[in-house]
Amino acid sequence: MHTPPRLLLTPGPLSTAPETRRALADDWGSWDDAFRELTRHVCQRLVEVAFDEPSAAHASDIACVPMQGSGTFAVEAMLGSLVPRGAHVLVLVNGAYGARMQRILQVMGRQVTVLDQGDWEPPSPERVAALLDADSSISDVAMVHCETTSGVLNPVEAIAALAAARGRRIYVDAMSSFGALTLDPRRVPWTGLAASANKCLEGVPGMGFVLARRGALEASRGNASSLSLDLHDQWTYLERTGQWRFTPPTHVVAALRAALALHQAEGGSAARAARYCRNHAVLVAGLRALGLEPLVPERLQSPIIVSFLCPDHPRFSFDAFYRALHTRGFVIYPGKLTRVDTFRVGCIGHLFPDDLHRFVRAVADVLGELGVAAPTPPRAAPRPAVSPSTP
Ligand SMILES: *Cc1c(COP(=O)(O)O)cnc(C)c1O
Repeated sequence: MHTPPRLLLTPGPLSTAPETRRALADDWGSWDDAFRELTRHVCQRLVEVAFDEPSAAHASDIACVPMQGSGTFAVEAMLGSLVPRGAHVLVLVNGAYGARMQRILQVMGRQVTVLDQGDWEPPSPERVAALLDADSSISDVAMVHCETTSGVLNPVEAIAALAAARGRRIYVDAMSSFGALTLDPRRVPWTGLAASANKCLEGVPGMGFVLARRGALEASRGNASSLSLDLHDQWTYLERTGQWRFTPPTHVVAALRAALALHQAEGGSAARAARYCRNHAVLVAGLRALGLEPLVPERLQSPIIVSFLCPDHPRFSFDAFYRALHTRGFVIYPGKLTRVDTFRVGCIGHLFPDDLHRFVRAVADVLGELGVAAPTPPRAAPRPAVSPSTP
């Protein structure tokens, strides 16, 4: 049973480097000193990645708590543990992942106010400031950095600054941006930030982690109403014993160490973001030349993933499009929006501009095979690549 190699143009799980996959070959005893050292090393490296500068990480007030499971487990552990039981949380929603934070908080019975921007429009800092000024009972703010639903980048820097200036705590789902787009804890006053191994760090799926201010972690004892997702308990147990509380995803941690070494060798988050921007530029220029338009304006777009409008053509069906691309070795994502039909293409993972050039040629081929003519005339020139610091 051999599956031919495919490129995953998806936002996690994604294509990984051979070195990362090779690290999966070893078995680890979870009680072994070597595995404790592996966990300690990976957690330390994750804090370094947050700062993009090892020396700053060592003197910092940020701790890393790893969590078994997919990324959502880490987000749920962060919110369920760091948000006090009597808190009132403003959740900023412009896609499925913001809506998931809302749902998590509602399931655990926290008071929630939602600013819902619809399918993709980013929340405006002015509106958030007005909401906080109008309701002093709001104690916490939760938001997503890159909303992977659409590929939009939300203004975390501006909103965290104004929330902190008003004495509010802020939690960020940085799942699909961490490792490429930095929210340096010295500049951005978040209380907690959740991410996972299998997005821009290019590890394999099976674990997430929460970076948090030590003071907030210390104050979170007894907040959680879940045993397995109790971040405080996981943190203090790790500090005391060097071990995870329950069966750790040993192979996944080993693969993450290898992936983090590749991240460092590439030049850290800035270099990784630059590669994703090159991928993104090839993708968007190539598909626009075929008449496929991105959903959101370029200035709001992250280099992580792009939503394209499905061609408005009777012969186009996402399923046929997906299958024909799959046959050619490319895996894409369906759209996740409520109002328009889209498909999504990720620029992250062990992918390079040449891969995206090959992908664009495959799309051209498939549109021809399906008999879908260019749905809209391509505009004059491709727009410039985004920079990772926008907006
Ligand atoms: C991938 C992702 C998650 C986590 O999803 P899982 O399927 O639980 O790994 C959460 N938030 C964002 C923004 C994501 O991109």
